[in-house]
Amino acid sequence: MKIVSACLAGIKCRWDGKARPCLKVIELVKQGKAIPVCPEQLGGLTTPRTPAEQKNDKIFTKDGKDVTAQFERGAEEALKIAKLANCNEAIVKSKSSSCGSGKVYDGTFSGKLINGDGVFAKILKKNNIKLFTENEI
Ligand code: SF4
Repeated sequence: MKIVSACLAGIKCRWDGKARPCLKVIELVKQGKAIPVCPEQLGGLTTPRTPAEQKNDKIFTKDGKDVTAQFERGAEEALKIAKLANCNEAIVKSKSSSCGSGKVYDGTFSGKLINGDGVFAKILKKNNIKLFTENEI
């Protein structure tokens, strides 16, 4: 079983109220082989919401609000779902401050990327769940 970023499954859960549908992910969900989760929504954030990026191990919205606690809570809750469903792999949305794996935005809201993982991606890796972005499947 795979845990997947809900926006890749066509759920309109992104900060801008849109989805980023990936046909391969949608197919996996349809076949009962993947479960969609949105850690930012599970952390109590609204949709749409102000975009947020990582800076020095914390997460701030574009207008300067510290939302680290919501991101961490959402990552923990999404991990719980992954464990309940015995997921050993994940397909995550690239570059996201929650789901991004390998590269994330640098905290300047300029589109610049740095090496690193989103809050949810980090916790999945710690729990030995293998990650792929939508560009790696
Ligand atoms: S937190 Fe993850 S699942 Fe939710 S919108 Fe962002 S990238 Fe998609």
